[in-house]
Amino acid sequence: MSDRKVRVRFAPSPTGPLHMGGVRTALYNYLFAKKLGGDFILRIEDTDQTRFVPGAEDYIRESLEWCGMVPDEGQGYGGEFGPYKQSERKPMYRQYADQLVESGHAYYAFDTSEELTKMRELAKKAGTANWQYNNVTRSHMKNSLTLSEEEVNKRIADGEAYVIRIKLPRNEEVKFEDIIRGWVSVNTNNIDDKVLFKSDGMPTYHLANIVDDHLMNISHVIRGEEWLPSAPLHILLYRYFGWEESRPQFAHLPLLLKPDGNGKLSKRDGDRLGFPVFPLQWTNPEDGESSSGYKQKGFFSEAFVNMLAFLGWNPGTEQEIFSMDELIESFSLERVNKAGAKYDHDKTKWYNQQYLRAKTDAELSDLLGKEAAAAGYENLDASFLARVANLMKERAYFIKDMLEEGDYFFKRPEEYDAKTLKKKWNVDSRLHVEKLQTLFGATDDFGIENLETIFKTYLEENELGFGKVGPGFRLAVTGKGMGPSMFEICSILGKKETLERMQIALDKLPV
Ligand code: GLU
Repeated sequence: MSDRKVRVRFAPSPTGPLHMGGVRTALYNYLFAKKLGGDFILRIEDTDQTRFVPGAEDYIRESLEWCGMVPDEGQGYGGEFGPYKQSERKPMYRQYADQLVESGHAYYAFDTSEELTKMRELAKKAGTANWQYNNVTRSHMKNSLTLSEEEVNKRIADGEAYVIRIKLPRNEEVKFEDIIRGWVSVNTNNIDDKVLFKSDGMPTYHLANIVDDHLMNISHVIRGEEWLPSAPLHILLYRYFGWEESRPQFAHLPLLLKPDGNGKLSKRDGDRLGFPVFPLQWTNPEDGESSSGYKQKGFFSEAFVNMLAFLGWNPGTEQEIFSMDELIESFSLERVNKAGAKYDHDKTKWYNQQYLRAKTDAELSDLLGKEAAAAGYENLDASFLARVANLMKERAYFIKDMLEEGDYFFKRPEEYDAKTLKKKWNVDSRLHVEKLQTLFGATDDFGIENLETIFKTYLEENELGFGKVGPGFRLAVTGKGMGPSMFEICSILGKKETLERMQIALDKLPV
């Protein structure tokens, strides 16, 4: 077992956009595989055709790729173990269901859905809220354990619809060791006789998942906690197929919780609290309703990935900023927590801010240029953009913040902050702007230091405090009441533009 090649799979069902919890599952699989020189595989589990959503499969691949987790093999990527989509593997599964019927670990069940509903209703009246088809109730249902062999053969020959169910033993403890949770033990009396093969000729998730993990030589199953209740059933299936020797090891990841810790993070929490729960924007093909994505909200994929890695894992050190390569280096399933991880959107923004601050001027200039172009400001000079980005980055979480808060770098003020206008704009402040206009107009050195010296000398010579001159000056040039250093702003805007803006403000803002 120990020298077995690590092969892990991310196995989403294409039932809609990939939730960020799903992306985290993919990430932990990816990190684990890359750390141990293994393969990361994408398998599409679409056995439930009624829940198929067009576009979901592409969305899954786009999300993985945006995060930098390109599968080594899988649906859309090729590989020797294909097809990697269960609907395309359909003919493979029946023989495995038959094998279990022959060995006495599964049986045919002919009960119609009306009959099952009736049983549930009767049980409810008798005080059993959750009736199950299990090792007790199966003895009064219509199946190959209660009907004679002739009767069963006749029904099949007549084309009657049936399913194949697993036959679970009574009162048996199923034990397995989970890498994250340690020993898990469940009594078979608490598990129902799950359907393995459906009347439409498709396997259920349980059968297909086990058969595929076996055929694809999967070494580790790393998946969400919601699958833990199914794990004992899966353990039994490996046993009944005689595949225990090569059974993958299980690791069930902790849940992603709402910010207040009360329950699983859902799409509704995102809508309610104003953050995305999906990596990329998604438009529902049925009703056209659109849900926001981290990418479109302006998050860097590196920051999103770094944040996700920490939702359930920690390196055991103080370091919080990890590149993908560093995550691969440091990751281990042993350091994944059992307890659910609370999502914290402020922390996610903090990560983005850290990545933004760490970018070089050239990168920032490029990113800001693209954002500006999308807003209609094209062909801007790279060094101008770099200076703007450098000045604005301390106050920004996103590139778009620079454009929004520093809009005065891209256009002249269209309006002037009402509060500052009311409080700070008066006969005196107008006069100061006029004076500064003259002083700035008399120099050709628009360097930050020189502008600062001119300004401070003016204050000193006239015994003025900053508060008497600064706000009006800022208002005239930027239209705002607050912002970064005015000397830097004027230096970036340049002499001509600064002076013209002062003149425009003087013309537009009489007192
Ligand atoms: N198809 C399952 C899902 O959508 C996969 C569970 C597993 O990894 O076994 O989450």
